[in-house]
Amino acid sequence: MSRPTKAVIDLQALRHNYELAQSLAPKSKTIPMVKANAYGHGAIKVSQALSDIAPAFGVACIEEALELRDTGIKQPILLLEGTFEATELKLAATKGFWVMVENHQQKEAILNADLALPLNVWLGVDTGMHRLGFQPGEIADIYKTLNSSRNISQPIVFTSHFACADNLDSDSTLKQIQTFKACAPVTALQSLANSAAILAWPKAQREWQRPGYMLYGNSPFAVAQENADQLKPVMSFESAVISLRTIAAGESVGYTANWTAERESTIATITVGYGDGYPRNAINGTPVLINGIRCPLVGRVSMDMITVDVTALSEVAIGDKAVLWGPELPVNEVASYCDTIGYELLTRMPERVPRVYL
Ligand SMILES: *Cc1c(COP(=O)(O)O)cnc(C)c1O
Repeated sequence: MSRPTKAVIDLQALRHNYELAQSLAPKSKTIPMVKANAYGHGAIKVSQALSDIAPAFGVACIEEALELRDTGIKQPILLLEGTFEATELKLAATKGFWVMVENHQQKEAILNADLALPLNVWLGVDTGMHRLGFQPGEIADIYKTLNSSRNISQPIVFTSHFACADNLDSDSTLKQIQTFKACAPVTALQSLANSAAILAWPKAQREWQRPGYMLYGNSPFAVAQENADQLKPVMSFESAVISLRTIAAGESVGYTANWTAERESTIATITVGYGDGYPRNAINGTPVLINGIRCPLVGRVSMDMITVDVTALSEVAIGDKAVLWGPELPVNEVASYCDTIGYELLTRMPERVPRVYL
């Protein structure tokens, strides 16, 4: 393998972040969310690295769950959107997957299924996000119906998801918790918290918590937060300088010539581009670490390359290390130059980028 572009994944940092999540809610059980290829970090490796401490895992769909089961993950795996077709239920029951039930179609499918084993069910309540879940007013009846079905193993877990837990000034999270409290039986097992709630909303603590983004070492908040500040970024997205040139003032760089040098400038070309998940809409000035020093991206991001102004560096050579994001350059900061969030940058990193595990 000779192209230097890679995502270095620090599994010790991952475990540190998991243990931080656990320590913030010692009475809760912590289910790592490993959907979307573990937010781009590699679902199999991430799940294996946590398999001695995690009681279960969370994914978006049965295909993701089967991938983990087939590689030897033994824990229950929660399907966060439940099933999309009734035919998935048999497989879910035999494979030990937990299914979210959050609409009437899913509920009917479970009640009518012919299952060899009862299913473990998470009952989703729409407490205000208005994306998934039953309405609070109908939940008591649904709970009763599900409870009397032989297809369902006890106990049912009551759950909901927060829309604005990353906003520390909003009262939306406390309102959602109130709505949840008013309809979830105290005797039922419950689950509310995502990363932001684990870090900042202790009132959201329940039997189960569901951290995603924080496990990968990045803060869900736009501002500093004492617990989030203890996270360790897991991914270091790295490449290297492959070409260097000095251009005169007035010369432009890259496709569409959207950046023009105001002075004589040294331009370093790095072998990473939007084909590697580096965002094409990164603007001029987006920071890139060259030999550990922040230098500005200049010119359009190409499919396989970017160009960086390294005029300020006293020494730079072909082969020098470039870091696109990592412990010294938070993915959140890069995202802020690209009109997106760190979640998206991590999640959409394609297979072309080799993951190297430490
Ligand atoms: C993705 C997801 C999470 C994790 O959210 P983070 O913000 O990444 O911690 C938790 N719960 C549900 C239902 C999810 O879909």
